[in-house]
Amino acid sequence: MGFDTRGNKLWMDGQLIDWTAGHVHVLTHGLHYASSVFEGTRVYDGKIFKLSEHNQRLIKSAKILGFDIPYTLDEINTACQQAVAVEGLSSGYIRPVAWCGTDKMAIDRDGIDVHLAVAAWAWGNYFDNKMRGLKLCLADWRRPDPITAPYEAKAAGLYMICSMSKSAAQAKGCDDALMLDWRGQIAEGTGANVFFVRDGALHTPSPDCFLNGITRQTVIGLARDKGLEVVERAITPDELPSFSEAFFTGTAAEVTPIRQIEQTQYQVGQITHGLAEDYDRLVRS
Ligand code: PMP
Repeated sequence: MGFDTRGNKLWMDGQLIDWTAGHVHVLTHGLHYASSVFEGTRVYDGKIFKLSEHNQRLIKSAKILGFDIPYTLDEINTACQQAVAVEGLSSGYIRPVAWCGTDKMAIDRDGIDVHLAVAAWAWGNYFDNKMRGLKLCLADWRRPDPITAPYEAKAAGLYMICSMSKSAAQAKGCDDALMLDWRGQIAEGTGANVFFVRDGALHTPSPDCFLNGITRQTVIGLARDKGLEVVERAITPDELPSFSEAFFTGTAAEVTPIRQIEQTQYQVGQITHGLAEDYDRLVRS
């Protein structure tokens, strides 16, 4: 089933409409020039986890790209709640997306119309066999230098190299790719942040050229609450064999163990299991 037919109603530009009527014109600026920002949020047992944090990031992402979403934070939060309620969802995924429209077909978008839509659908794990652990390869593409791309925005354009990297990884029989940054340091997954374990401490790259994920920040808090040391620093690929465990964090990925990166194997160990359980408990609390 395509995503254009999988639901009954979605929220678009201020109202709930039939899901199948959620169209844009082919001459939409966002489609041609990537003037589009989005969020991914999960609802668990009827409660949307960190709803405001996600929508604050949505508003900020648009601002970074230079356009304003014509709705307040409260209105966007309500739109998400309505999109979930109208689909009768208790658990699932919410996708708010804001984009520049059709008033202009030019590189600039000064004065252009800005739109917002929110759709929600039932969704389980991002990865099949999640707790078995992922097999990753290193991506050919690198997260760009901050002077090359607005890395703090969750913007459609930044996903071009993520999609290419993930598809290339899957074609090689891997679940996903791990991306280095422009300096050759470990950065993140194609849609998730990465953590490693060494001698009982967590090590994770400093988010200075990729998204500082809401889940990343949540998991750092959970780890520190249970007395684990968390080190945010530059991590180089030659360190990969020195870690005992590794995992991804993200709204979609939640806490997903990694069992292999290139030739290095990891155990799906106690620290990863513990944090995955703590995260599951928190999102449902
Ligand atoms: N990096 C990328 C590229 C992502 O797409 C995501 C998912 N939004 C993340 C990191 C993790 O962010 P969050 O925990 O806020 O979902």
